Amino acid sequence: MKVAFLGLGAIGYPMARRIAQAEFELAVWNRSPEKSAELARTVSARVAATPADAARGAAVIVTCLPTSEEVESVTFGGDGLASTMASGAILVDCTSGDPRASRSIAARLAKQGVDFLDAPVSGGVVGAEAGKLTVMCGGDAAVLERARPVLQAFGAKIILCGPTGAGHAIKALSNALLAIHLWSTGEVLVAAAKAGVAPSIALDVINGSAGRSNSSENLIPQRVLTRKFPSTFRLALLDKDVRIAEAVAHEAGTPARFIELAHLIFQRAHAELGSEVDHTAALQVLEREAGVVIGRG
Ligand code: NDP
Repeated sequence: MKVAFLGLGAIGYPMARRIAQAEFELAVWNRSPEKSAELARTVSARVAATPADAARGAAVIVTCLPTSEEVESVTFGGDGLASTMASGAILVDCTSGDPRASRSIAARLAKQGVDFLDAPVSGGVVGAEAGKLTVMCGGDAAVLERARPVLQAFGAKIILCGPTGAGHAIKALSNALLAIHLWSTGEVLVAAAKAGVAPSIALDVINGSAGRSNSSENLIPQRVLTRKFPSTFRLALLDKDVRIAEAVAHEAGTPARFIELAHLIFQRAHAELGSEVDHTAALQVLEREAGVVIGRG
């Protein structure tokens, strides 16, 4: 089967590599062509000159870009995917995108007989490298079955969440929980430090108690306590996810007080720290406000 992959970023690169290793006939396109060339040096992949070139003849086209805006632009812009996608092809959007944009993209593509699946992922760069991502899909069950062999190259848990946009909605809402857990655990740690409990001891207690989360068990010990803050998932992307989660809740008309606050906090941290830092660096803003460093000391 011919597959195209667009967007060789932090998570897209290892996902595309796993598709090539699963022995699909892969064409890759990335805005910065060096990354496509680098991938093609290590696995069998054709470097496409444009999105349209990548999609030519492909049964499944995967996008993994920062936001739905870039997906719209590589799909419908000049030399875009839509100009060469054949009727019967599937656009699988692994971007953590916006459900409203996804519904609009799906409707436009349907006019030329192309199916759409929103399929954002979870599990980070390590999960992508190991082929162990969770893939949360929105769309038609029969379309998912046709795309499943490709998703299985990088996903261990593939879940049909609902109609088009449902995957993007639950991804954003789930990442709002990540933002809330991360920041609230940080608040607990700086308060504990001022009360005389060192961060590593406070984490030991939290991780043996009901307040534990992926932030307390993994992210803060591995990225904050070590002061490494490795940029594998950018703060700008988490800010975007929380913004989408807020819009989803507002559209649904459901209470969203924590989500709104998380949006405000992460938007400010993003504005202060810039686009390239890791999401865990947001806690540096809290440390500055508290006058406490969440370190090993
Ligand atoms: P990165 O910022 O590392 O990479 C972004 C990719 O998009 C790069 O390939 C970049 O190209 C390309 N790109 C950026 N702007 C444009 C544009 N205007 N036109 C075309 N291509 C563009 O992002 P990630 O790989 O980390 O994330 C991708 C998606 O996956 C996001 O929606 C994110 O929220 C989600 N995600 C990320 C996770 C992670 O751990 N990193 C985990 C789960 C989901 P170039 O190389 O030229 O810059």
